[in-house]
Amino acid sequence: MTVRVPAKVNVQLAVGAARPDGFHDLANVFLAVSLFDEVTVTPADELTVTCSGPDADQVPLDRTNLAARAAELLAARAGRSDAVHIHITKNIPVAGGMAGGSADGAGALLACDLLWGLHTPTAELLDICAELGSDVPFSLVGGAALGTGRGELLTPVEAGAFHWVFAVAEGGLSTPAVFREFDRLAEGRDVPEPQASPALLTALASGDPDALAGALANDLQPAALSLRPDLQRTLTTGLEAGALASLVSGSGPTTAFLVRDGEAASKVAAALEASGTCRATRTTTSPAPGATALP
Ligand code: ATP
Repeated sequence: MTVRVPAKVNVQLAVGAARPDGFHDLANVFLAVSLFDEVTVTPADELTVTCSGPDADQVPLDRTNLAARAAELLAARAGRSDAVHIHITKNIPVAGGMAGGSADGAGALLACDLLWGLHTPTAELLDICAELGSDVPFSLVGGAALGTGRGELLTPVEAGAFHWVFAVAEGGLSTPAVFREFDRLAEGRDVPEPQASPALLTALASGDPDALAGALANDLQPAALSLRPDLQRTLTTGLEAGALASLVSGSGPTTAFLVRDGEAASKVAAALEASGTCRATRTTTSPAPGATALP
């Protein structure tokens, strides 16, 4: 059983002050993009994980892997064995701010549910996703959605079609470290309640790239740039090559470039690759569907 799962970009990521539990309230507008991992599950004697792809060596193969944790949680709920082999074909950058681990968690959950013939209701699958991590529910549903709470409470939103280029950076950034840097930079300042921007939601629904370019916003960007100042050069390179807007994807260090069409995407990707300011590029469209079983 193979399930394909998309990466995401946050077209708006509004971050509130740290809560007493350490999490931050977010207003998070998720958009799934056409960059996919594939998760294949097959019956086995015990729970094992393997991974292939350019970044495979950075992916944990023990039970800390979100795909393994998804299989464990679903099996425990169903009162059955979790003995399954999980293979991840990894295309989503690791620790890149594109919810790659979350995608694999959602993919393994759906794949195991289908393999084991459990027919778990979607609402229950979403509960398990939220237990796995804040970004996991969105990986299951895909498309475009507003995430509130710590990002896991989803409301679908309308999205027209857009073209994107992503620049994969050398190395990764730890999401908790970026939030800690956000807190450090926010010290002594009033952090407003995070709220979805009406202008952003209208632009997203319209499919007008110029309108969306003016409305993209990521409150984690100053923190990511503070930890990785080199990313500024990548952002500038993409803009100089004709991108309509640039931003750090989620907690980074992947950077995202909104472009007018496929032709502009090729031009921006070529300029980024030639500049030496990133490790690789990926050209994508949005919105992409959520976790989907492949025939
Ligand atoms: P997000 O955008 O949700 O903050 P991310 O894209 O920045 O996440 P991930 O690729 O999900 O980051 O990886 C973060 C860390 O999670 C990795 O460094 C790795 O140790 C761990 N991890 C657990 N499961 C996986 C998985 N299936 N794929 C990649 N990393 C995983």
